Amino acid sequence: MTNPEQKLLAAIKTRRDDLVALCQDLIRIPTLNPPGRHYLDICEYLGQRLKRQGFAIELIRAHGTPGDSDKYPRWNMIARHQGSGGGGECVHFNSHHDVVEVGNGWNFDPFAATLKDGRIYGRGACDMKGGLAASVIAAEAFIETFPEYHGRVEISATADEETGGFGGVAYLAEQGHFHPDRVQHVIIPEPLNKDRICLGHRGVWWAEIETKGRIAHGSMPFLGDCAIRHMGALIAEMESSLFPLLAAKRTKMPVVPEGAKQSTLNINSIHGGEAEPESGYTGLPAPCVPDRCRMIIDRRYLIEEDPHEVKAEVIAMLDHLRNTRPDFDYEIRDLHQVIPSMTRQDAPVVATVARAITKVLGRGPEYVVSPGTYDQKHIDRIGRLKNCIAYGPGILDLAHQPDEWVGVDDMLDSARVMALALQELLTRPA
Ligand SMILES: [Zn+2]
Repeated sequence: MTNPEQKLLAAIKTRRDDLVALCQDLIRIPTLNPPGRHYLDICEYLGQRLKRQGFAIELIRAHGTPGDSDKYPRWNMIARHQGSGGGGECVHFNSHHDVVEVGNGWNFDPFAATLKDGRIYGRGACDMKGGLAASVIAAEAFIETFPEYHGRVEISATADEETGGFGGVAYLAEQGHFHPDRVQHVIIPEPLNKDRICLGHRGVWWAEIETKGRIAHGSMPFLGDCAIRHMGALIAEMESSLFPLLAAKRTKMPVVPEGAKQSTLNINSIHGGEAEPESGYTGLPAPCVPDRCRMIIDRRYLIEEDPHEVKAEVIAMLDHLRNTRPDFDYEIRDLHQVIPSMTRQDAPVVATVARAITKVLGRGPEYVVSPGTYDQKHIDRIGRLKNCIAYGPGILDLAHQPDEWVGVDDMLDSARVMALALQELLTRPA
């Protein structure tokens, strides 16, 4: 006699070839972002497949969101399946369908989805079409094994995660698709490795800082005021006071890699003086003292930090320079902000997936927090849903790299974990 759990795991095993083919088909639809190609194609492909499995399909275009146009419409797909047992909760698998540019250095055709030695190679294999395919297989195997389950299984494939998710999860959350009354558990199959549960991410603050100067002839710089030298003073101040301050801020969040367990700040870019000449311009630059210089900063902060404090310490440094350095003046402009998100380790979806990992892999999970953000931010802030994790196959370090790949066995194992999580959450007596 096989018990239901063994039946479910057997149903995953028989789908191995199907899982490989599905992952390959998804990679072969080159959903490059920017600019956002083939979004409708991938949504229709998934919709047709899941419709055959009894899902109700909704295709949603995020009209008017950044990047949306008739040439590059921002399409999303949500598939919903209701168990015949009635009642119950909703488990939602959310994957982004967009992939980043190919870049140089490939040994494989990035959209051929070559299968070699148990790995599928291609842009998006790991981030995150492998995870998307694994969640589809897990859901299909679960529904076949337990047609009388309680509640609902949802699968979404969403746009633009790589460029902020505004035409994807943010848009769907604003429309109420992640409201806690409708969805109780969210699993995002991002490539965090099959034995790790990602609880959330650090916060983000991007800002533009401009130092002010005065234009003059370059042969008489003393008649002007060089904005780039003021920027140099700011960088020196950052080196001596801000970077040591950030390095001393340590978090209890289990952020990986280790270096991201502290506050960080990246200087994204600096532009000062005359604009770079257009290519093809063969003349010389003009001799001018630069009257402004702009820096973009990317500050990543910890759950223990107050977002106002994060800004205040940068402004305090700028004000210190204004008070001590002759003619120093600046402007600062917010560009983007994301609050940190961290699901509690005793939240139901965390505890359930942890038990499933232990059953499949024979050891408990590692709990991690991502140094960068992903779509959990929108589910948390706009959807107000806290019971959300990232869990999926693939090695995070391979994301966005040449020769990105996902392992077939890893996809299968994470599909097993996802299926067992569905069993635990949706087959309990109501
Ligand atoms: Zn991703």
